[in-house]
Amino acid sequence: MNHLPFATGGALEVRRVFCVGRNYAEHAKEMGHDAREPPFFFAKSAEALTLGPEVPYPPMTSDLHHEVELVVAIGRDGADIAVDAARSHIAGYAVGIDLTRRDLQAVAKKQARPWTLAKSWIGAAPIGTLHAPSEIGHPRRGRIELKVNGAVRQSGDLADMIWSVDEIVAELSRYDRLLTGDLIMTGTPAGVAALVAGDQVEVAIEAVGQARFVIGPASS
Ligand code: MN
Repeated sequence: MNHLPFATGGALEVRRVFCVGRNYAEHAKEMGHDAREPPFFFAKSAEALTLGPEVPYPPMTSDLHHEVELVVAIGRDGADIAVDAARSHIAGYAVGIDLTRRDLQAVAKKQARPWTLAKSWIGAAPIGTLHAPSEIGHPRRGRIELKVNGAVRQSGDLADMIWSVDEIVAELSRYDRLLTGDLIMTGTPAGVAALVAGDQVEVAIEAVGQARFVIGPASS
C-alpha cells in the first residue's frame, strides 16, 4: 500500500518505513536486554502497510507478535535535522502495529542474521489513518494501548520513550536524508504477545487516534 490517507482528506505517498527497536525500557527488559543500551533502527517495506480491517495470518510462523507503535510521517525532506527542528519535518501521526514473526526473529538473532523476513511481508504493518499536526498537534505524552478480544495486552505512555520522537527524527537524519513520505515506527511498550487467527485487535494512542483489525486465516 503506497498511499496512506489523512483523516481530514488527502493522502501521503509512502516511501520508506523505518522502525526503532527497543525504545521503551520495559519492552527492552521483557526481550531480555539491558534497558540502558541505546535504541537502533531497522526497516519494513512500504508494501507491509495495510489499513485492514482484515490482516492475514502470515506464512512461515507459529508465533506472530503484536507491537503497537506511534507512527511518524515525514512531510519535508531533510538531512542532519536538529532536534528542535524535527517538528517542522513531520506531516502527521498514526497508530500502527509492528507485526513480528517472533520465531523467525529469534533464529535471526541467534545466528546474527538480518531481521528482514521476521519483520517485513505484505501486511506486516497494520496502520490507521494519518492525523496532521494541524488537527492533533505534536503529541509527546499520552496512553498507548493494544487490546486483543477486549483485554488489554499492551499499555504504556508516549512519555516513556527512550529516544523522543524529535530525537528519533534527528538521529535517523544523520544517517540518511529523510524524504517526504518516509514513515518511522517509534517502538513499542511492554506486553508483546502472540496473535492467532480470529483475534480482534484494537489499538489506540491518546491524542492521536485508534484503529481496529482482525487477524484473518493464514494467507497463501
Ligand atoms: Mn517494534
